This record gives sequence, structure tokens and C-alpha cells, in this order.
Amino acid sequence: MKTALEWKKYYSTAEFKENYIYRGNDLGADCTDAGAYFKLWSPAADSVTLNLYSEGDGGKAIACIPMKKEEKGVWSWHTGEDMHGIYYDYVLEIEGEQIRSADPWARACGINGRRSMAVDLRRTDPEGWEKDRAPAEGPERIIYELHVKEFSWDESGGFPEEYRGKYRAFTCKDTTLCNDGVHPTGLSYLKDLGVTHVEIMPAYDYGSVDESGDAAQFNWGYDPVNYNVPEGSYATDARHGEVRIREMKEMIQALHAGGFGVILDVVYNHTYSLDSWFQRTAPWYFYRVFDDGRISNGSACGNDVASEREMCAKYILESVLYWAEEYHIDGFRFDLMGLLDVDLLNQIRRELDNRYGKGVKILFGEPWAAGDTAIEDDAPRALRENINLLDENIGMFCDLTRDAVKGSSLKIKRPGFITGASGYENDIAESAAAWGKTGVSSIKGERAPAKAPSQIITYVSCHDNQTLWDKLGETAADEDRMRLNRMAAAVYMTCQGTLFFLSGEEFARTKGGMEDSFDAPVSLNRLDWSLAWKNHDLVEYYKGLIGLRRQLPGLCDKSAKAPERIDNICKSHGVVSFTVDNRSKNSCSRWDRLWIVYNSTKQSVISEPEGKGWEILCDASDSGRWKSPSPVGKRVTAEPQSVLILGHRADCPASRNGIVHIRDGEEEEKRKKGGQRQRKEWQEEKDAV
Ligand code: CA
Repeated sequence: MKTALEWKKYYSTAEFKENYIYRGNDLGADCTDAGAYFKLWSPAADSVTLNLYSEGDGGKAIACIPMKKEEKGVWSWHTGEDMHGIYYDYVLEIEGEQIRSADPWARACGINGRRSMAVDLRRTDPEGWEKDRAPAEGPERIIYELHVKEFSWDESGGFPEEYRGKYRAFTCKDTTLCNDGVHPTGLSYLKDLGVTHVEIMPAYDYGSVDESGDAAQFNWGYDPVNYNVPEGSYATDARHGEVRIREMKEMIQALHAGGFGVILDVVYNHTYSLDSWFQRTAPWYFYRVFDDGRISNGSACGNDVASEREMCAKYILESVLYWAEEYHIDGFRFDLMGLLDVDLLNQIRRELDNRYGKGVKILFGEPWAAGDTAIEDDAPRALRENINLLDENIGMFCDLTRDAVKGSSLKIKRPGFITGASGYENDIAESAAAWGKTGVSSIKGERAPAKAPSQIITYVSCHDNQTLWDKLGETAADEDRMRLNRMAAAVYMTCQGTLFFLSGEEFARTKGGMEDSFDAPVSLNRLDWSLAWKNHDLVEYYKGLIGLRRQLPGLCDKSAKAPERIDNICKSHGVVSFTVDNRSKNSCSRWDRLWIVYNSTKQSVISEPEGKGWEILCDASDSGRWKSPSPVGKRVTAEPQSVLILGHRADCPASRNGIVHIRDGEEEEKRKKGGQRQRKEWQEEKDAV
């Protein structure tokens, strides 16, 4: 067999590109009651045999059928018989070796995804599926990150035992805390909270959980085996290939009916193992290899998918379109998006826009990688510093905002702006305008402004790293923790960009301080719904902020001009304040102007509003003051370690600048200098790493 490098050279030849790039979109098994086509792309094979089985694992083949060689490396077989529910795999002969493989293009599979299954997809639709639609979009997208098993595993959620940890838990209505009939959990709770989109952590078929094993096994699932098939361990029956498809559709249908858009977390950057269906059917075509023969591992998971290769790009694009079309998925979160090439992301954006309308489907991802990658021809990657090369409707998780607010995610003891660290004031002010003013800085220190807030995902917690509550435990005194959690939320929820948070951030979710819980027991990872009620004041604070956000077009604006709405920025040690032009042609907000103060110091900040018509919308303890706003007197106080939001009534004459900030100037200068020094030292330390 050729070495990885020899294969790579072969795939790069003009001869290969001319003879083996297949343009059709019919790979896989297409099956109706009128018959079925099986098509496999394997340019390297000398022969391909299709094996049919009545079971998803075990047993002998019921038929072994030689496939016909077509053009462009495609092998095919057609039958007029109904093949729904028939399992299959292939035996390929490549350079004299016999290799068994499932179908990389499979849409259904048996237990643990080892065999593929022919499926008539119409027979997997739950009742009413043809009427299933995403809810209408509101003024803002607020994304809640959820893991299927974490959501319903804990008894406190009140889900029926047979559905705990399953897709079907999402179909349970009116669940309550330990079935007390009083305190909503599950989707009723989320609806009340006000989030608009649920992002489901990996739910395609992954390899780290044995679908025939103990139900309590847990993994986040960032280890794809079958990209176009739902994970089996979340189904009530992983053995029959159609069940997981139907039950995942039921989950999506229930989420849509409950008023939520559904975003899927997709991991096209690497596969569970190098010994994948990709590799078995087209050796080394789908993976990156360095010129010295080393296997590329920018994912830190053992392999990097070669998204820049034509047939690989085609695979990823078709996979995204398939989920959007067949499963009615409303958006995609790309894991390690920085490993994928910019051209592919832009192409996905264009194809989705053509089918569903500009920006309708949501696309965003992590604009980084875990290491160097052997992308061919130095194709630009979807990294933070390439933000200007990406479509304005491709978003990036903004680690700059995340770390500025709460401190480094990687250095757990390091504080951030809210926890009293100096030198983050500039980043906080940039965050308010979704990095559309000076711009996001790259590792090399260059700056590239975001094209629009639609490119920025504003967040402070996700499944990676410590929960916000645990991070605060490392960086703040116990007695300040709850107050600082409120402050963190009020800071990022008053920044432009699309809002995102880890499930349970709003109820002080803890993983006992653990940073990377991807394979920790489910007992640690599960949502503890009793916390949602124990810390209900915090939940209410989030709810108030979300409710307010939806009424502030000046912060929801995703257009290129939105950052200009942020003005009168004042920065001093631990304090950032700014005004927001809150006028909008499309919505009539009660307030034409906002004034927002982030006070992370332990002293109050006293300010004097200019002109009449100012109201308090949110303060340190009550984010719902906007519901019955009280007028501001001569002076107004931003309490220590808190956010103050004022709104200027649109029906009152406008004031010039809004507000005058009162501070002790001399004291301020001293603090500022100290802060710059500290920040510089940290930067040097960071550069040295
Ligand atoms: Ca699986």
C-alpha cells in the first residue's frame, strides 16, 4: 500500500483531478418503495462488493453483489426492490488488499454505526413532520448550549425514566422539579427564561459511547463516526436504524413547537479515528499530511480532515445541506472552525442563503485550532485573524470578550475585568461594539475589525473550560460570587453580537471546578434542576436581562453600522461606560438612548444625568426594573461590582451627551498607570508561553 505521502502526491496530480472529481449529488443509498440506488465514491478501488444483511450487527450477509464501475471513481448498483431496513457494507479491493467499510455517505446505520442501513426517509417522519417549521425570528437570537443527555438525565428534572438522557425527553411537556407540579423544568423552564435557540452538542453518530452498553456512559461526543446519522445512544432503540432518525426528528419537532430554533454542533474537522469510512474507501484523501510525511493533528484528536480537497469540501457541504433539509436544522456551530478553509465556509453560507434566504440559517464556530495543520496550498482558514475574509453572516466565538469579562479560560486563577483585573477596559469597550471599532486582534497583534456584529458570538461560558460559577470560585471571594455572576451576565448581555451561554450558567451551574469534563461521569455533567430553583434569584436576573435585551434595537442591531451606535465611551480603572443610540426604524422602543455603566470596583460610581427623561432599567440586584421604570433624580449610583443601565425616554427632548461621569481625577490616574503595568506583565507572560 502507498504511504500517506505517496497518496497525497497522487491526489494532487492533474490526472487525478481530471478523472476522479465527481459532481453528482447522489452518493450513498437512495431508497424508496420503488427501489434503491447504492453509490460509493472510491477512486482507488479495483473492485467493490456490496454486502446486504438483515441485521445491523452479526449474522451472515444475505447477498454479496459486485458493484459496477462508473465514471469518476463511482461504483453503483440498482435494484427495483424495496430495500428499506436492509443493512449493508462494502468490501473494497485496494492495491491487492480486501478492506471492509461502511458507507461514508450513509443516512442510517445499525448499532454503533458499524454497518450502514438503506432507509426510506419518508418512513422515518413523525406525525405532522411536513408541517414542522422553525418559529419566527424575534429581535435577537439568544443561544442556549445543551447536551442531549445532560438535559434530562437527573431525576430532579421530572422526566419519565425511560426518556431520561434521550431525544424523547424533549417531547415531554410540562415537566416539573421532581414532579412537584409547581416548578417548571425542561422546555417550559427554557421558554420562561427567554432563550430563542437551543444548540445541541454533537448528536450525529459518534464513537466514544458503546450503544449496546451501560446507559450511564457519558461523552460530549466530539468524535464523529457517521456524519449523516443521528447518535444511537440517545434513541430508545439503537439497534433498529430508523428509530434514532425518527426520535431525533421528534426532538426537533418538539423544540420548534416549543418556540425554539435548533442549532447542531458539527465536527467536520476530525473523525473519531483515522481508521474511518473515509480512510477505508479513499485512503488519505480526506486527511491532511505534512510534506515530510507526518500526519496533521491540528485538532489534537489524532487527525485533521482535509476540507480544502474538492471531494471533501463537497462532502461537508452536502452534509450541512442534508441536515438543514431533512432534519429542519436552523443553524450550525462548527467545532474548531479554524481548521476548515475560508472558501468552504463561505460556500456553505452561499448555498444556505440560496436555499433559505440570506442569513436565515445560522452559521458560527470556533475560530481557532488546537495546533498546526497541513492545509494544502496555504489556503486561508476560518481563524479569528481572517474575520475579514469570511461572510458577514458567519459568526465567531469571541474569546477576547469572554476572557476580558471573567479572565483567562485557560489560566484558572487569573481574574478578568469583573473580578478586579486591570487593563481590560479597552477590550470591554470593544466588546460593547462587537469588535467593530478597532477590531479583533490576532496572535501576531494585527487588528481586523468585525464586518458587523453578526460575526461575533458574545459569551462568557460554554461546555469547554470551567463553568462561569466555578471560574468565579477561583477568582473571587465567596460572598461576592453571586453578585459577580450577575455582573458578568449584565456585561455580556449588553454587548452587541449574538448572545450565547452554556446551559445552567443562569443557575450557577458547577462541575466541581473541572475544566474539561468531556468524559467525566454523567453525574457531574448532568443539569441539576434543583439548582435552577435554589438559585432562582439568579435565574430571574438572567430572565430580566434577556427580556430587556429584546427591547433594545441599539444592541440587537447586526448591521455593519451598528458599532457606531456605541458612543461616549469612558474608561477608567475598573469602570467602563458608554451610550447606545437605541433608535430604530423597525421597532418602537420606549427609549431612544441608553447609558450603561460597568463598575467592577468596590466603590460606587456616582453620575449626573444630563437633561430629563432618564429611567433606571437595570441595577445591581434587579434586572427587571425596566418593567416599571423609575425616573432618575439628580444623581444616580452604579453600585460596586455591578452594571447600571439607564434608558432615555424617546418622548422626552434629547440631551446632548447623556450623562456626566463623576470621579476623583487624580486618584484615577494613579490607578490607571498601575493597571497598565500589570496588563503588560501578563501580556509578556502570555507571549512567552
Ligand atoms: Ca454512536
